Amino acid sequence: MTEKYEAVIGLEVHVELDTASKVFCSCPTDFGALPNTNVCPVCMGLPGALPTLNRRAVELAIRAGLATECEIARYTRFDRKNYFYPDLPKAYQISQFEYPLCSRGGVDIEVDGKQKRIGITRIHMEEDAGKLIHSEDGTMIDYNRCGVPLIEIVSEPDIRSSAEAKAYLTELRKILIYAGVSDCRMDKGSMRCDVNLSVRLNGASAMGERTEIKNVNSIAFVGKAIDYEFQRQIAVIEQGGEVFPETRRFDEADGKTHLMRRKESAADYRFFPEPDLVGFEVGEDKISEIKRELPMLPAERRRIYGEQFGVSATDANIITSHVLIADYFEKAARATVYPRLAANILLTELMSELTDSVNEKNTLEPSVPSSYLAELATLYGEQTVNSSTVKKLIKMIAAEGVSPSELVEKYGLAQINDGEYIACELDAVIKENPKLITDYRNGKLAAKKAIIGKVMARTAGRANPLILNDIFDNM
Ligand code: ADP
Ligand code: MG
Ligand code: ZN
Repeated sequence: MTEKYEAVIGLEVHVELDTASKVFCSCPTDFGALPNTNVCPVCMGLPGALPTLNRRAVELAIRAGLATECEIARYTRFDRKNYFYPDLPKAYQISQFEYPLCSRGGVDIEVDGKQKRIGITRIHMEEDAGKLIHSEDGTMIDYNRCGVPLIEIVSEPDIRSSAEAKAYLTELRKILIYAGVSDCRMDKGSMRCDVNLSVRLNGASAMGERTEIKNVNSIAFVGKAIDYEFQRQIAVIEQGGEVFPETRRFDEADGKTHLMRRKESAADYRFFPEPDLVGFEVGEDKISEIKRELPMLPAERRRIYGEQFGVSATDANIITSHVLIADYFEKAARATVYPRLAANILLTELMSELTDSVNEKNTLEPSVPSSYLAELATLYGEQTVNSSTVKKLIKMIAAEGVSPSELVEKYGLAQINDGEYIACELDAVIKENPKLITDYRNGKLAAKKAIIGKVMARTAGRANPLILNDIFDNM
């Protein structure tokens, strides 16, 4: 019964801008400070306190717009969005309604080998609200986050499945991290996502009534929330019911969405121009300057890895999973004539360590510096060492902090490429193990592996495995 329907999905993504101070005052934005220590009359909404706009926040918001191929508005302005809730002491949020800073952009995604562009309707600036902490004794409020600069990125209703939503969020997140806009930590709340979803019969052009699932806090949960909500709306319709515009929340424990309230509309917020801040124009030269400073984005890096370094699309995608890993790889790739081997070594031997480091500390402290990775690729590419020695060297670098060439020298780890020498070692092994060679001649293929293994052991893993194999086969 679900095959008759398709999902229509638009995402609203809130991202905390990576500024040192808040958007309308000079309070610090650092995460984890004691409650209500990063506050002042402006972000506490005390009467008479006036906002001043943080220039850096505007620059980062423009960066986000350029990185997602948006048009940057020449004229932009702030509006008041009025609502009463204790997390917002002013009883209004300074946001942008009529004149958002960026609009009409898009993000390219790929799902099941199919390319697709998800349109971005608009990106506007706004301020974050405080945090309510509920306990048995009552509710406490921490205003530290009040006034932290945010952008809200609103997508077109172009998304059709949970897979597309996850691909869009993954790519958007990457782009924003690369562009230096935000660290986009969904687990720490610096990136949050609202899901708007409706269903319609396949082939229908009109959109159905939608629900909005607020503040889903991981990409995986966005996928789960969509899958559940899609089925729920279909069931409602199939039972002759009606989907109402409502705000729902996703419960991680039961994997379902639950009704919170009927959806408010723009009119409920009584938007009007913020009288305490003047509208302003962003100059063409300012936009060009920000464009020049924009670091290279993941899509372009993936292209370069393929064209210049001979790295496959799949591998390039893994390496660009985080900007710090991509930067690390590029340094190594440019320092060796074997960049593809550097990619292979990185992926098989170092990726899990690097990923952990990035996820846990948001910095990269590799046990193998990029210059040593380049050296490893060169040593391997020139057949100075074989792959098992590469593995060994990586452990030794971590332990001794010495370059791979020095280690090869110091411990005599160079690969043995001398055919005669290898043939002698092979002879010796065969003489010592007559049964193995008889087994092999009688068709037991495992015996070959055993013999090769013994030769490798005799040469402390240094024999060139290709040469050894060749000699064995031509015996
Ligand atoms: P609101 O201000 O109520 O959140 P917006 O008009 O800004 O509403 O739209 C929010 C999001 O909802 C956008 O991402 C948009 O693409 C999406 N959206 C709008 N209508 C629908 C619909 N019928 N079905 C699914 N998504 C929708
Ligand atoms: Mg909304
Ligand atoms: Zn303040």
